Amino acid sequence: MKRLCRARLRPGILILVLLLLGWFFCLPRKLFRDVSYSTVGESAGGELLGARIAADEQWRFPPCDTVPERFATALIQFEDRHFRYHPGVNPVSLLRAARDNFRSGHVVSGGSTITMQVIRLSRQKERTLWQKLVESVLATRLELRYSKRKILAMYASHAPFGGNVVGLEAASWRYFGRPASELSWGESATLAVLPNAPSTMHPGKGREDLLQKRNRLLKRLLEHGDISSETYDAACEEPLPDEPLPLPVLASHYVERCPKGKRTRTGISLPLQMAVESVVNRRSDDLAREGIADMAAVVVDNATGAVIVYVGNSSPDRERPGRQVDIASSPRSTGSILKPFLYAAALQEGDILPRTLLPDIPVNLGGFAPQNFDRQFYGAVHADEALARSLNVPSVFLLRKYGVPKFWSVLREAGLSTITQSPDHYGLSLILGGAEARLDEIVSAYSSFVRGEAPITDALARWYTYEALKEVNRPDQLDWRLISSVRKAAWKTGTSYGFRDAWAVGMTPAYTIGVWAGNAQGQGVPGLVGARTAGPVLFDILNLLPASDEWFVRPESGIWTDVCRDSGHLAGPDCPSEGILLSEKSLDSDPCPYHGSGEFVLPPAMEWYYRQNHPEYTGAKKASAAVSMQFIYPQNGAVLILPRQLSGTVEGLVFRVAHHRSDATIWWHLDNCYVGETTFRHELPLAPDPGPHTLTVVDQDGSVASVSFTVAER
Ligand SMILES: [Zn+2]
Repeated sequence: MKRLCRARLRPGILILVLLLLGWFFCLPRKLFRDVSYSTVGESAGGELLGARIAADEQWRFPPCDTVPERFATALIQFEDRHFRYHPGVNPVSLLRAARDNFRSGHVVSGGSTITMQVIRLSRQKERTLWQKLVESVLATRLELRYSKRKILAMYASHAPFGGNVVGLEAASWRYFGRPASELSWGESATLAVLPNAPSTMHPGKGREDLLQKRNRLLKRLLEHGDISSETYDAACEEPLPDEPLPLPVLASHYVERCPKGKRTRTGISLPLQMAVESVVNRRSDDLAREGIADMAAVVVDNATGAVIVYVGNSSPDRERPGRQVDIASSPRSTGSILKPFLYAAALQEGDILPRTLLPDIPVNLGGFAPQNFDRQFYGAVHADEALARSLNVPSVFLLRKYGVPKFWSVLREAGLSTITQSPDHYGLSLILGGAEARLDEIVSAYSSFVRGEAPITDALARWYTYEALKEVNRPDQLDWRLISSVRKAAWKTGTSYGFRDAWAVGMTPAYTIGVWAGNAQGQGVPGLVGARTAGPVLFDILNLLPASDEWFVRPESGIWTDVCRDSGHLAGPDCPSEGILLSEKSLDSDPCPYHGSGEFVLPPAMEWYYRQNHPEYTGAKKASAAVSMQFIYPQNGAVLILPRQLSGTVEGLVFRVAHHRSDATIWWHLDNCYVGETTFRHELPLAPDPGPHTLTVVDQDGSVASVSFTVAER
């Protein structure tokens, strides 16, 4: 007898264990597996910046883990009053539903708990009695896996709210233009009853029914003591929402870059973003009259490196070609905007000192003949001044000294991903806009510069760069009357070849700001100059940022060293000197080459141009300079084209030599044939035949200078 009992019991236990196991493993690991979500971009403070519709054309925001209290209370009161206590199914309400349905002969009540509805939303099966049973079993299992809070959140994220609006957060924005956490009781109640009959939201489709349902729910909340009678009265007065509202469109190009189907918390500051967008749109409207259609701006917080403002293009909603282009991440010609990196890198390496004189004379470097923006030559310019005035010719001399491949590496290390060609491809034009870069990467590179990250880690090199760039009253085209108040910034502008790109980048200890203006489609505009178009926007934005008196601090470490006041080089014995703070590497740099005779004497070609802007310059009083004369025109290796008169007669070119001594006489030889003699002014018109030539000059002391050039075939 005992044995029989045991034999019967065993299969019973086995079946029970199998059922338990089956129950335990019945729920899929991920409930909403094949559901696509909207791409949602949030500000640093968690506010919605913008969103894109999900792949299945539904406004369905990625799930949240929490549900706002008012909505939760209203929903539980409406759908499932015992939600907080039952184990996923509520037998009492199921039985009541069965009774009601039996009595009326058709389905009037579902008796489903919120938990069961979560299961139904995740499975999307037809509503049969069998499915209801399955849902009940799965619901009890869901209760074991998740907290009540989480189950409520799953419901709120996936419930239908009419049309293509799915989930509480999307519904809240589409119907009320606010996050769900800011909804009133009336609004929360509306959204709590809506999933029960989502089609009632559409105008004309039972809106009266929806209103009554909402008010009945509000009544219940009042009776239950969830809301006061004042709240109840006010909530009942609230109208139902009309047409769905558009979602916010802030930092739209940045949201565009957020991972698809995900909620991304960006570093964007909502108030700053809104303020900068309005500045950019206003400035861009002004420039549009000049044919400059597009503008972009990026602000980075230097402490964290986070992008806090990102305007990919002005008013992307405005009807115009190219308006959707995110200019801030498009490669554009860099103009002069990379020059601070060369100055700082050359300082860091000890190639120059802060005020080293650089040549500013005509030069022909393998067919590359750089010009300054104003087409003038200044003979010799201090490196810091050349940077502040953005002179091209001294920058090219500096890049030649520093080395193109090394500077190329600096730019790559600074994070400019668009410098994709080899250093040879760019050559010396790398410093004059020969390369392309993205505004967002440039701003990020300048911000890394402020943080002292590689490639520019030397604190003194950085500090001297800020000093050179802080001079705001420098002679450029910026009209300061256009700018309301000017805060201090180390800033640089750039204009690309053909007036296609205008840049301005500014640094303060706290922020880095970058502005680009131009046409997304590339056409140049004569007035498109960095200082004039992008510069004022830079200062507008600077004025929006939190005010601070903080400025870059000069590093303590360094060696006080005598440098030549005239040349900026390490002082020689005959140099007028002053002490400045230098890093150890700078002590190996070249000593002053211009005070060899005790006087400040520049080489003849530099002198020739320098004298025109420096009346105080005396030059050599004694004939002691190492080089007494140099060609001003042509440059060695130049290819010349002889001008032609209207009649067709070929005109000569005026060849020019600079000599230290004003009273010198020199004799000219073209291809070793004597062609003439000059005194005082050394200019000689010549019309050589097409082909290669060598022109040689000799002075009365026997000094010789020569130049090789080619006259082009006509
Ligand atoms: Zn000197």
